Amino acid sequence: MSEKYEGVKFRTVFKSKDIPVDLRLETLKMWAKKFDEYRLAPPYDGGSAGNLSYRVNSDSNKFIITGSRIGLKCSLQDDCFVMVENCDFSNGIVYASGVREPSSEAMLHFAIYDKRKDVQAIFHGHSQEILDAAKTLKLPATSEFYPYGTKELLQSVILILEKHSVIIMKDHGFIALGASMGEAGKLSLQLIDRFQNE
Ligand SMILES: [Zn+2]
Repeated sequence: MSEKYEGVKFRTVFKSKDIPVDLRLETLKMWAKKFDEYRLAPPYDGGSAGNLSYRVNSDSNKFIITGSRIGLKCSLQDDCFVMVENCDFSNGIVYASGVREPSSEAMLHFAIYDKRKDVQAIFHGHSQEILDAAKTLKLPATSEFYPYGTKELLQSVILILEKHSVIIMKDHGFIALGASMGEAGKLSLQLIDRFQNE
């Protein structure tokens, strides 16, 4: 998590400049704010290190995700969010609609939605305390550290994905997977309680 943020590592092809229109954005904004409040998305120069998304329809992998380089501290506007429609993993392309690039982990979110049809929301955060407690709490974790936004990181998560609802990315951060945003959010906040009570 001490990695320097260098922007997204894929190419975004914009299918349109349409800003997502969806009532559920308000729920996502609320959780983004909580991530900031609970220090699960530490600020860096120009943004916050964390990304949150939800699946748009249960029968497709399309999702709405926080844009790259947005600060979760400020109240987010609708144009801070991007709809990801598809990913071309072999060519490193993300197809999206919106006015900014999707989060650097957009491909990871896509791969999880593709493998886990039960998952409707994915929240990814960073917390040294959670990483420190992960072993004691016996949370499933990737075996190697890989830089953010890489294919290797994505593959290491998919490898241990199974039916887990919380996954630790070694020396990096956590991912909470929920059947709703509320569930992914609760799982994230519970991690804080768990390391505090450990
Ligand atoms: Zn991360």
